[in-house]
Amino acid sequence: MIDLAIIGGGPAGLTAGLYATRGGLKNVIMYEKGMPGGQITSSSEIENYPGISVVTDGISFMAPWSEQCTRFGLKIEMKSVERVEKISNGFCLHFEDGSKQEAKCVIVCTGSKPRRAGIKGENEFFGRGVSTCATCDGFFYKGKEVAVLGGGNTAIEEALYLSEICSKVYLIHRRDEFRAAPNSVERAKKCEKIEFVLNAVVDEVLGDSSGVTGLRLSYKDGKTRQIEVPGIFVFVGLDVLNNVLSDNNGGFICEMTPQGNVKVNLKMQTSLPGLWACGDLRQDAPKQVVCAAGDGAVAALDAIEYLRNHH
Ligand code: FAD
Ligand code: NAP
Repeated sequence: MIDLAIIGGGPAGLTAGLYATRGGLKNVIMYEKGMPGGQITSSSEIENYPGISVVTDGISFMAPWSEQCTRFGLKIEMKSVERVEKISNGFCLHFEDGSKQEAKCVIVCTGSKPRRAGIKGENEFFGRGVSTCATCDGFFYKGKEVAVLGGGNTAIEEALYLSEICSKVYLIHRRDEFRAAPNSVERAKKCEKIEFVLNAVVDEVLGDSSGVTGLRLSYKDGKTRQIEVPGIFVFVGLDVLNNVLSDNNGGFICEMTPQGNVKVNLKMQTSLPGLWACGDLRQDAPKQVVCAAGDGAVAALDAIEYLRNHH
């Protein structure tokens, strides 16, 4: 049985790993199903993490985090956790490959993933013109026109990024007000390559055997429009990844909000002693790297205290 298992290697999980190992825990494993770094690695820029003087991309920003943790003894295993089971003296992690690992306590930091918009043709053409990652796929549209869907921070920032590569970006949003930070919206409005298509929804992603060829839109006032683009980037929010906390009865092993976020207190403790939830997964998460990292530190410090008192 290990002392502490951390599930997810984004900013929350890596910071939990750093604080747990640097705080003296010897037997800590972080499980990550993809590449450590989390969802910020799909971002073309991060400029609001304290101390950053030069705007950098998400992959470069996260690269040193894993190395810093492993220096203090964090073990990282590339494994996908299927579910966490409560057992008498701790928890049992069940992995997708069928293996298991027992741990005295667990910090869950599984974050969230991009949501699909539910448009006709979106799933059919996903990966063939429909994308949720401008950093990954933007270059395929060098010198071409693309569309971006959404009015949040991700849509505006990635539209700006794509405007550096593409000849034109149609920014399609269902309202004429934005969730995105006002300064980002102002930057986008000043960008000549971005056309704002507001009060409009995409009714269908059009395509053929080569992939996406265009979009069929309708405006709130009933007018319709067709845009010829080979690519659409969908940034319509995030779905929380809470499935590792499912129980066998269609519920969860700890208390959740109706939206599927984990209920936590100020120490990131869930309703189940020995189990913490951090970052985008938890209730009222501000969905910022700095906050996810802060949560990870808080949970790890509390886990050290818990292990001292309970084991
Ligand atoms: P995540 O970063 O989502 O990491 C979770 C990790 O858990 C992932 O690596 C995932 O692979 C892993 N995982 C999930 N399920 C399992 C499983 N079952 N088993 C094993 N591993 C699992 N925030 C900012 O502060 N500034 C920005 O400029 C900014 N820009 C952004 C741009 C984009 C395009 C996006 C998508 C987000 C941006 N954010 C930004 C938000 C920020 O990335 C998130 O708030 C932050 O990454 C949350 O960290 P986390 O550790 O909670 O989760
Ligand atoms: P978001 O803030 O939830 O915004 C989603 C956008 O998509 C909204 O404008 C929403 O419209 C629109 N939308 C939702 N469903 C839609 C649908 N089916 N069809 C068309 N449009 C739809 O998501 P996000 O931009 O991905 O950001 C997620 C979180 O990460 C946020 O908390 C954000 O602040 C954070 N983040 C921060 C930064 C940063 O700090 N620089 C960068 C990126 C992300 P409505 O507005 O009409 O609801």
